Amino acid sequence: MTTLINPVGHPTMVPKDIAPANSAAFSPNLYRWMKARGHAYKDGGVAETVYRVLPNSRLAKEFGAGTLMIGCPYGQYEGDTDFSGSMLMAVLCNGSKATRYCYVGAMHSLEVVDGFWDSYLKVGRCAIDPEHNEHFHGGERYSVTGDVRTCLWCGEQHQKTIMPRTIFDESWSTI
Ligand SMILES: [Zn+2]
Repeated sequence: MTTLINPVGHPTMVPKDIAPANSAAFSPNLYRWMKARGHAYKDGGVAETVYRVLPNSRLAKEFGAGTLMIGCPYGQYEGDTDFSGSMLMAVLCNGSKATRYCYVGAMHSLEVVDGFWDSYLKVGRCAIDPEHNEHFHGGERYSVTGDVRTCLWCGEQHQKTIMPRTIFDESWSTI
């Protein structure tokens, strides 16, 4: 007997909640991927969520520990441990062109990033990059006043530090 499971990444969200038209904080490419390749339920809710690759796991050999993946359990039969999804960074870069794969037995390699969609709905791509190290395309991220920049997506403020650097140019001339 086959038991199909319906994975739930978020119980009420619909793809248009993360449309870039709603906020510059939302990734146009993630929205495209969710529309083209994601599973949304008729009465609301999406199957996909974000997972982190566990250290010393099978997927860690392929992607490195800590890599973020988006997808859901494949769920074709009871006890199925396959994962269906893509690398989150590939989705952010390539949108709907990022292919979705079935990774055999990969659910053992993954842990759910708790509350991913709830924080994405609040602060958009800052939920993916809380350190503010990435340079995302699409959507103005900062407003700068003097030495302080304010993240327009999550409100975090950063102080600019300028470190002086001395450069010597060496040349040789006849005596
Ligand atoms: Zn931010």
